[in-house]
Amino acid sequence: MKSGRPRDAVSSDSANLSVLRLGHRRERDKRITSHLGLTARAFGADEVILAGEEDESALETWRSVSERFGGEFECRYEAKPLSWLRKFARDAGDGQAGVIIHLTMYGEPWKDVTSKIERDRPTVVVVGGTKVPGELFKLATHNVSVGNQPHSEVAALGIFLDSFVGELPEDHFAGGEIKVIPSADRKKVITADE
Ligand code: SAM
Repeated sequence: MKSGRPRDAVSSDSANLSVLRLGHRRERDKRITSHLGLTARAFGADEVILAGEEDESALETWRSVSERFGGEFECRYEAKPLSWLRKFARDAGDGQAGVIIHLTMYGEPWKDVTSKIERDRPTVVVVGGTKVPGELFKLATHNVSVGNQPHSEVAALGIFLDSFVGELPEDHFAGGEIKVIPSADRKKVITADE
């Protein structure tokens, strides 16, 4: 089973968890998109797909954090996200239909729906940026809200992933150059050669 999968998942090794960021604006969304990818990685996603304006700096940030802090994490740019989603809904790989979870304040409450979401197929969590296309609501397997107030894609993603993925396996971030050791009163890290 792929590391980082929900504990009760019955997923195959190929099943993975992606996050798709729609509508990125290179100047206006620089920080929030960067934080979105870091949040996706930190809470168990295997991949971030960036759509909207192309932005190599965001991809570089995510790759560099993965290099330093470990784990298997992919990221890439997608020029045609809706076409990609239409195909993903039909065939996410080896003929399996993918699960599309669209985070939106108009959706069903995450506390009610997360436990009911299928966990045995490739899954993509979609967050918007600028105007979200109405088609996405129909394409989505689940439209999920984290409260029904407008707030941030980073907050929504973090809360949802923590609930959907649960605790990550000890080895999820293996292979990094540094590892943080939780401490009550100081910064404690160990380096790969320690
Ligand atoms: N202006 C965009 C629109 O309405 O089409 C949305 C802007 S919002 C800041 C960006 C993204 O954050 C949304 O597309 C959604 O993915 C996420 N988001 C914001 N509030 C949310 C909530 N209460 N629940 C779930 N996702 C939320």
